[in-house]
Amino acid sequence: MNDVSLYFHIPFCTAKCDYCDFFSISDYSSCSPLIKALLAEFSRDFTRFGKPPVASVFIGGGTPNSVPLQLLVELLDGIAEITGADTDVEWTIEANPEHITREFIHALHDSRVSRLSIGVQSFDHHMLRILNRNASLPQTIDGLDTACNFFSGDISIDLICEIPGQTVESALNDIRQAMVRGIPHISRYSLTIEDGTPFHRKYRDLYTGNDEVYAEGISFLAEQGYVRYEVSNFSKKGYQCRHNLRYWNMDPYLGFGPSSVSTAGPGVFSEQMRMAKWIRREQTASLDAYIAAVAKEDDSLLLHKAQEEDGWYQIEWKDLLFEHFIMGLRTYTGIQKRVISERFPSEYVKLFADTCAAAAPFLIEDGNSIRIRDEYMDSQNPVLLKILDTLDSVSGQS
Ligand code: SF4
Repeated sequence: MNDVSLYFHIPFCTAKCDYCDFFSISDYSSCSPLIKALLAEFSRDFTRFGKPPVASVFIGGGTPNSVPLQLLVELLDGIAEITGADTDVEWTIEANPEHITREFIHALHDSRVSRLSIGVQSFDHHMLRILNRNASLPQTIDGLDTACNFFSGDISIDLICEIPGQTVESALNDIRQAMVRGIPHISRYSLTIEDGTPFHRKYRDLYTGNDEVYAEGISFLAEQGYVRYEVSNFSKKGYQCRHNLRYWNMDPYLGFGPSSVSTAGPGVFSEQMRMAKWIRREQTASLDAYIAAVAKEDDSLLLHKAQEEDGWYQIEWKDLLFEHFIMGLRTYTGIQKRVISERFPSEYVKLFADTCAAAAPFLIEDGNSIRIRDEYMDSQNPVLLKILDTLDSVSGQS
């Protein structure tokens, strides 16, 4: 049986950041029912799936460390008990700095969490205000320093660049602040203006990004010894995020909680759940509907997409192949040809090879892997359009 990664979604945030379009809510009255629903759903599904071996665990949000600590511990202990996951499995929890306390760090040590991913976003007071982050700069620094001083696992921080008004010096200082604290992993995202957010109303016609801020940051990270292993992720040697690498490699993962997604292939589940194709489940982005559906054991209410067998729908082979391109080309190791041969029927392995040949000007074949040429790493859309066109036209001829 193949191993799986597990994702648990905690959608609570004390306030909404102006750029955010994730599913999050600020009414904490359903915290306890959510934790109980997550454990009930996970316990039921994990047994039903035949208890596959666990490769990594990720508690994401929202802001997981904004819920009462005893509930978070209840969730972590419950997951450990159900999976019996080894201590060398990577356990990551996302956290925002204003809620990082000594007690929180202590609870992480007791609950086998090995990796803390902190939403810093910027060390510049003005940038934090433009983003409308909940934390002030002193709170951000206090929380981060508490983690750096007392957490014995690995720390990663998120930074945002190309914020309106951000200078190159401010962006480089954000990286310097991580560096001086010895933080070995940085996720650095360009700000995107999402439809329906306050940012969209304010900036949609005014914002054009800032290539210089983006590129100078990437060069500076390289000079400081951070290896860019994915478009937006930089780490010192040995500190890559194993959980996220599994998404980019399209390894199977199971998501629990409102708005979570699961994707799995043949070989993940026990005999009675096993299917010939890859399958996906997308859960509803409604906390109340999620909690009610788990209580009623009604899978159909958990989902927001049409489903076939037992709440899952099948992914067409061609769509799955395109997803392997989208995800795999984000990494510097690229797509492993062995993975394509193992996962796809022979006609799609041929389609993969034909597509790579047609898109050869954009790609590098490197032994067992196919990766994107460096000059296209930051502008992948034309490459992916070419790949999609080729997939459509070649598969249309067969
Ligand atoms: S803390 Fe994260 S999830 Fe919550 S509102 Fe801000 S960006 Fe969104």
